[in-house]
Amino acid sequence: MDDKVKIRCPACTKIFRERAGKVRGGVQLNCQNCNKLLTLNRDTEDPFIRRALKTAKEIRLSQEAKGLRSYLRSAALRRRARAAKIGHFALQALSFCIVSSRHRRATLLPC
Ligand SMILES: [Zn+2]
Repeated sequence: MDDKVKIRCPACTKIFRERAGKVRGGVQLNCQNCNKLLTLNRDTEDPFIRRALKTAKEIRLSQEAKGLRSYLRSAALRRRARAAKIGHFALQALSFCIVSSRHRRATLLPC
């Protein structure tokens, strides 16, 4: 996924790209074309800067969601593996009970 945001420099009106993680309100960036120092401010009059900040935030949020999803996926897998192990152990215990109760010719009782 492209994590870069397009920023239109208010001085030279050229567009450059910056990583979404760096594009936050109050952050200062140098224009990659004219090297002017830009302050990214959410309250700016410049609609391009406002849009860049909004886009950067959306990208960051979707990256966080993606990270969370993959974490949850791995956690679910770990949980499933653990459950399977417990299930296997329970199955072994149960079959042992069945075998021993058959041995004693006893009525099969839940143990
Ligand atoms: Zn510029």
